[in-house]
Amino acid sequence: MTGRVLILGGSGEARRLATALVAEGADVLSSLAGRVADPLLPPGEVRIGGFGGAAGLAAWLQSHPVQSMVDATHPFAATMTASALAAADLTGVPLLRLQRPGWFPQPGDDWRWVDSLAEAAVAVAGFGSVFLTTGRLGLAAFAGLTARCVVRSVDPPSPPLPERTTVVLARGPFTVTDELALMRQHGVDVVVTKDSGGDMTAAKLTAARELGLPVVLVRRPPVPPGVLTVATVEDALTWLRNR
Ligand code: NAP
Repeated sequence: MTGRVLILGGSGEARRLATALVAEGADVLSSLAGRVADPLLPPGEVRIGGFGGAAGLAAWLQSHPVQSMVDATHPFAATMTASALAAADLTGVPLLRLQRPGWFPQPGDDWRWVDSLAEAAVAVAGFGSVFLTTGRLGLAAFAGLTARCVVRSVDPPSPPLPERTTVVLARGPFTVTDELALMRQHGVDVVVTKDSGGDMTAAKLTAARELGLPVVLVRRPPVPPGVLTVATVEDALTWLRNR
């Protein structure tokens, strides 16, 4: 592989891709948004902070040439994904989207799909103890809840929050034992999550199934049409090696 690879990161897949490329001796630059105070840094060079929209990323690509760009941001980072596509169109830099598959229900699951965090807040009205695992940003959608809420995030969340909130600061991966203990400790009767997919945070779904709890899942934003997309780090490596 020749030439520099830009990885738009912030996911476990992005870190794994950077790790594999650096091990092969490739020239890798990972980009992080800078949302987390103490991020897990991938090997290789890292830059932190937004580019200033699609036009900003296009200008950046013109002044920092790369051979290819892999958008390995989280499935819900739809703004960055749209900017990457627009900037690729503007500059001609080849773009690959690396996005892990969403979760699939198993027998015994009581999953309730919604299209937004606001709809998730409506779906949990009437429950007594809500486990919110949707991350620190976007919690304002739940601020009107009167139920007890357990919020888990890497960094402390900012207001507005539900009035009866307990904050649990933790970074995954979590085990099923961890999740069962947390849900039992707080008497959780419904779990709210984004359909992030992957293994790192799937244990809450297993724990909810074991406890017979409903799970409200927020559907993913669609990948914009026209973006070549792969689901695994291995497929992203193959695409890069063949370039
Ligand atoms: P977003 O809504 O798509 O992005 C908002 C803005 O943040 C983008 O317009 C861009 O700013 C900047 N940005 C996002 N990802 C970036 C990256 N890798 N490098 C440089 N700038 C980036 O994304 P988000 O949902 O806020 O997520 C932010 C970061 O957290 C992403 O890297 C994502 O992978 C990670 N993350 C998100 C979630 C989630 O649930 N959304 C969960 C776990 C991790 P400019 O327009 O100025 O370029």
